[in-house]
Amino acid sequence: MSTPSVIVVGAGFGGLGVAIELQRNGFDKITILERAADLGGVWRENTYPGAACDVPSTLYSFSYEPKPDWPHRYSGQADILGYLHTVAVKYRLLDRIVFDTEVTEARFDESAQRWTVRTANGADRTADVLICAVGQLSRPRMPDIAGIDTFTGPSFHSAQWDHSVELTGKRVAVIGTGASAIQFVPAIAPEVERLTLFQRTAAWVVRRTDRNYRPMHHALFRHVPGLRLAQRLWVWCFLEFFSLGLTAIPPIRRIATWLGTRALRGDIPDARLREKLTPDYPVLCKRVLFSNEYYPALVRPNVDVVTEHIAEVVPEGVRTADGTVHPADVIVYGTGFKGSEFLWPIKVFGREGVELDRMWDEGARAYLGMAVPGFPNMFLMYGPNTNLGTGSILYMIECQARYIRQAVRYLSDHPHSRLEVRPETAAAFDEQLQRRLLRTPWTACSSWYRNAAGRITNNWPGTVTAYRLRTRTLDPADYLTGLPDSIGIR
Ligand code: FAD
Repeated sequence: MSTPSVIVVGAGFGGLGVAIELQRNGFDKITILERAADLGGVWRENTYPGAACDVPSTLYSFSYEPKPDWPHRYSGQADILGYLHTVAVKYRLLDRIVFDTEVTEARFDESAQRWTVRTANGADRTADVLICAVGQLSRPRMPDIAGIDTFTGPSFHSAQWDHSVELTGKRVAVIGTGASAIQFVPAIAPEVERLTLFQRTAAWVVRRTDRNYRPMHHALFRHVPGLRLAQRLWVWCFLEFFSLGLTAIPPIRRIATWLGTRALRGDIPDARLREKLTPDYPVLCKRVLFSNEYYPALVRPNVDVVTEHIAEVVPEGVRTADGTVHPADVIVYGTGFKGSEFLWPIKVFGREGVELDRMWDEGARAYLGMAVPGFPNMFLMYGPNTNLGTGSILYMIECQARYIRQAVRYLSDHPHSRLEVRPETAAAFDEQLQRRLLRTPWTACSSWYRNAAGRITNNWPGTVTAYRLRTRTLDPADYLTGLPDSIGIR
C-alpha cells in the first residue's frame, strides 16, 4: 500500500479531528461520509435553548486550533458549531465530506484487503482503512412510555428541538432531568405558563463559574504570551484532579459531594423540594451536571417537579401512577441518547464475514476503544470506554487521532500488511479495564454509561493523562500484521 485510502464515517469533532491529523501528516486520500446535510455532529443536532458545553471552551477545542475570542467561558452551541465550520474551512475539509450519505453497512473484503462501505442510497465505496466516528450520543433515545403517540399537542426530543413550536404562555411537560434538561429548563421556564418537570432520578448538580469574555479578554488571550495555554492547563489540571476521585483517590469524591450538597442547600430553601432533588446514589455515578441556573429555575412559582412514576402519556398530557393527569400543551423529551449501542444501526462485517454485533452481544468493547479483533484496518473514534466522567472528550479524540495516524503510517510503510489487534491483547486490555471499572462509582447506579446487562461500556476509568500514555505509541506487536496465506502474501 502506498498512501492508504481512508473512509471516515461521521463529520463531528471525531471525524474532522482524525481527518485533520491524517491530512497534516501527508495522508490525503480521505473521504468523510456524513448522514446529515451539514458537519458538526452533536453541535449541529442539539439546538435546544441553552445548549452549551459543560467543559470550558479553552479545553473544549482542538489543542492545535485555539480560539482566543470565545464569547463565554462555557460556549454555546452556535459558537461551537461555528468553530467547527471555521476549522473545516481552514483545513479544506469541506471538499472531502460527502453529505446526506448515511452508511448502512461496512464489509471487509479479505481478498482485496479493503473495506467496502454501503450507503443508504445504495452506492458502494471502498477504502483501505475504515474509521468510524459516529459518536456515542448521536442517536436520541425516546422513553419506553405507553401512549406517547396519543398526545394531541406537539412533542419532540431535546436533540430534535422543534423551533416552530411557540412555548410562550404554554403548559410544557419536560420528561427527563439529564445534562440537556438542566440546560433547557432554565432557558424556557421564564417564558412558559407552566413547566412540569418529570424526574426519575435526581442529578448531582454543582455550580460553575461561567463568565462573558469581553474584547479586553480576547485581546489578552490573543496577545499575552502563554496566557491561553496557562488557562487551558489550569482547567485540565482541575478536571484531572476530579477524575482521580473516580479510581485512584476516592476521598476526592467527598469534595464533589460537598459541592453538590452546598448548591442544593443554597439554592433550594424549601425542604420538600430539596428532598425530591437529593440524589439517592453516590456522586460521580452519573455525570455531574454543572449549572447555576437549574435549581433557581425549579423554585419558580410556574415550575413543578414531579417525582411520581409516569404511567402513560394521554392525549391531554401525562398521567402519573397516582392517577393524576398533568395537563400539557407541549411535551419535551430530555431523555438522552442510545449511548451504549455503538455504531448501531450500521452492520459491520469483519474477517470471515463475522458481524460486529455478534462480537458485542455482551456489550461493546475495543482495544484502547479503537480496535476490534477480526476487524482489520478498522478503527473507532470515541469508541467503547473512551467517554469521560469529567474532562473534555476532545482530548480523548486527539489521542485517538494520533494513534490512528500511526496505524495509517504503518500500513503505508509496510505494503502487503494489515493491522488487526491480537485477540489476546484485546482480551487482556478488556479484563484490566473491567477490573478498574469495578472500583469506580459508576457501578453504584444505572446510567447511560452501562448497557442493559450492567456492563460499563462507555467510560474510561482513569485520567486523560493515563489514556494519553496508553495510546501515545502504536506497538505493532499488539497487532497481527501479516496477510493470511490464502491471499499468498506475508
Ligand atoms: P458526534 O458529534 O455525535 O458526531 C458523529 C457524526 O456521525 C454525526 O455528524 C452523525 O450525523 C454522523 N453519523 C452517525 N451515524 C452515521 C452513519 N451511519 N453514516 C454517516 N454519518 C453518521 N463532551 C465534552 O467533552 N464536553 C461537553 O461539554 C459536552 N457537551 C455535550 C453536549 C451535548 C448536548 C451532547 C449531546 C454531547 C456533549 N458532549 C460533550 C459529548 C460529545 O458527544 C463529544 O464531545 C463530541 O462532540 C463527540 O464528537 P463525535 O464526532 O465523536 O460524535
